[in-house]
Amino acid sequence: MVAEQKEDSALLTPFDEKLHDLEIYLDTVFNNTGDPIFVKDEECRLLLVNDAFCHIFGLPRDEIIGKTLAEKVPLNERDHFLSVDRQVLKEGKEVLCEETLTIAGEQTKTILTKKNRFVDPKGNYFLVGVIHDISERKRTEEKLKLAAGVFSHSREAISITDASATIVDVNDAFTRITGFSRSEAIGQNPSFQQSGRQSAGFYQAMWKGLLKNGYWCGEVWNRRKNGEVYAMMKTISAIYDEHGTITHYIALGRDITAMKEHQEELERIAHYDILTNLPNRSLLADRLSQAMMQCQRRQQSLAVVFLDLDSFKNINDTYGHSVGDELLIAFSTRMKEALREGDSLARIGGDEFVAVLVDLGSIEECKAVLDRLLLASSQAVKVGDVILNVTASIGVTLYPQDNVDADMLMRHADQAMYRAKELGKNRYQLFNKAQDDAVKVQRASLAAIRYALDNHQFVLYYQPKVNMRTGVVVGVEALIRWQHPIEGLLSPIEFLPIIENNPMSIELGEWVIDSALTQIGQWKKMGINLSVSISVNIAAIQLQQPDFTPRLIALLDAHPDIEPHYLELEVLETSALDDVNNVSKTMDACIALGINFALDDFGTGYSSLTYLRRLPANLIKIDQSFVRDMLDDPDDLAIVEGVIALAKSFKREVIAEGVETIEHGTALLQLGCELAQGYGIAKPMVASEIPAWIEHWKPDVNWQV
Ligand code: C2E
Ligand code: MG
Ligand code: MG
Repeated sequence: MVAEQKEDSALLTPFDEKLHDLEIYLDTVFNNTGDPIFVKDEECRLLLVNDAFCHIFGLPRDEIIGKTLAEKVPLNERDHFLSVDRQVLKEGKEVLCEETLTIAGEQTKTILTKKNRFVDPKGNYFLVGVIHDISERKRTEEKLKLAAGVFSHSREAISITDASATIVDVNDAFTRITGFSRSEAIGQNPSFQQSGRQSAGFYQAMWKGLLKNGYWCGEVWNRRKNGEVYAMMKTISAIYDEHGTITHYIALGRDITAMKEHQEELERIAHYDILTNLPNRSLLADRLSQAMMQCQRRQQSLAVVFLDLDSFKNINDTYGHSVGDELLIAFSTRMKEALREGDSLARIGGDEFVAVLVDLGSIEECKAVLDRLLLASSQAVKVGDVILNVTASIGVTLYPQDNVDADMLMRHADQAMYRAKELGKNRYQLFNKAQDDAVKVQRASLAAIRYALDNHQFVLYYQPKVNMRTGVVVGVEALIRWQHPIEGLLSPIEFLPIIENNPMSIELGEWVIDSALTQIGQWKKMGINLSVSISVNIAAIQLQQPDFTPRLIALLDAHPDIEPHYLELEVLETSALDDVNNVSKTMDACIALGINFALDDFGTGYSSLTYLRRLPANLIKIDQSFVRDMLDDPDDLAIVEGVIALAKSFKREVIAEGVETIEHGTALLQLGCELAQGYGIAKPMVASEIPAWIEHWKPDVNWQV
């Protein structure tokens, strides 16, 4: 159009020229407008398009003019464009519509098209459209919409503050979790939600981290609008502008109260006893260690108190476990009441409790609490219709007096508790180091003796007993020895006292009787002169067994070839016989079987005369301590003389032990005591040496006169 008019420019008037210039301007503006512009005829064919239009379709102008470009856009878009075009052409009203434009099946754009109808001078309609590409704006809008969606639909509470930490916006989840509405929150500092559970230091550290790293993440206890304290897992991030200056902070938080509670429940199960709700062993161990450290710092004492119910098993067995459980609950409540503030109580097993008493200034303070515990534990408990009377035994150890670790303190208190039980229950016992050591040694010794018994380390030695005047060997005394694999041959004084009050002494005593009987059988088989009897020493505890006689009969029955009169039992006078009456009855029963008795170590005990009078022993053994010194000590000589006279008047036989020299024998013979035993005659020897010894022994010539 512009080119055609140039050729005729010579003919143009100044007005025409102006018009012509204007056209050039218009054309320039038309083609340099960023928005595509098009003009269509009544048939919707493109009459005029600008460069931007050509550009958006990617086609040269001559491929556009006269066409509808129907083939370039998808069917649905084309139908839409054409129907709007027709509507505008028909109705003549301006239309503004947002449309999608997909060109050549590739690029989809969002466009805003303004279409209007015009009439040319000839009265024909034409349509002018201006396209505005709003794709970019649309995309930004979508993004913002998405961000807003995330903000408002997030399950996490989101709060945004400005750089001065003033809340500028919060989302719905924030309101749901905190209870504060958007308007209540906006303008506030986030600290308005603080629960007071965290220290100022906590918040300082949080801000420090936030400013240093640009974010902070952690757990916070906050307070809801209704006052409830809740746990939140929070992430706070700083938002920077292009200059690196903080413009906002955004905080995301998740309510983790339920999770926390669950976690606490798990921890509770791990650290508390379910039945009584008291701390369990593991928590106790922690608390005790802490208390010990504090004790050191404050230079005070603490007590570990081990409580064990007396005969709790009986209650369980008699009334059932649910009653037992109720009792434990009631007991634990009472014990707690009896303790002071700051003390702790734990249940560490069935009916075992441990209390830790802290800040003890004196032992008296501790004893006062122990008395209260005992009193409280001994009061009757009513469970349903049952009234239960229980007591507790208490063992106590004090730290740092007992300067060991937590574990050891518990053990010591436990040991002291056992001691309290041994001493009669319903009492407390303080742990005593020396006593404990002795108990340990005792235990080890008992175990060693048990082992020795099971492994045949005991042997019997035999010491002859003779008539010095006639030269007759009247018997042998069986004396026990421990053939110790390391320590060699041990004499009875080294091990018998250890088992004095232990059932093992009875077992060992029975072993001695059995071995002695076996030995008699062997000698008998060898044709040894069996005027010989074997004396066996009997411990008091053994003789006082109610079933001593039947057990002795059983032992004798196991050796049917040995008549009971071969056996003589030596009752040790030094060991107290609690019930002389019963012992005498037992002795009578044994005598009826044919067994003989001797009163050993006569004169050394407190009740020699009582025993002499009451016990049916036909032989008295003068203790070697009197015999040993009788040659030099007139007092001892007088005692020996006296015992001999006593025996005669009570019609008992008498034998002197500890005859170490010929002179002793001579003196005894002169006093009228013919029976003797001692190193001067023979030392105790192994069984195999006895036959030859008996065969060769001759009384000393000095004794024959
Ligand atoms: P006991 O029954 O008075 O035995 C005599 C003790 O005196 C024995 O010591 C013996 O070896 C020792 N002896 C004998 N003659 C002399 C002597 O001339 N001089 C000196 N110094 N000592 C002499 P042993 O064998 O060490 O026994 C000590 C005690 O142990 C026994 O005193 C007896 O009470 C007890 N015993 C020994 N064997 C047994 C046993 O099988 N059962 C029990 N319950 N006690 C036993
Ligand atoms: Mg003896
Ligand atoms: Mg003796």
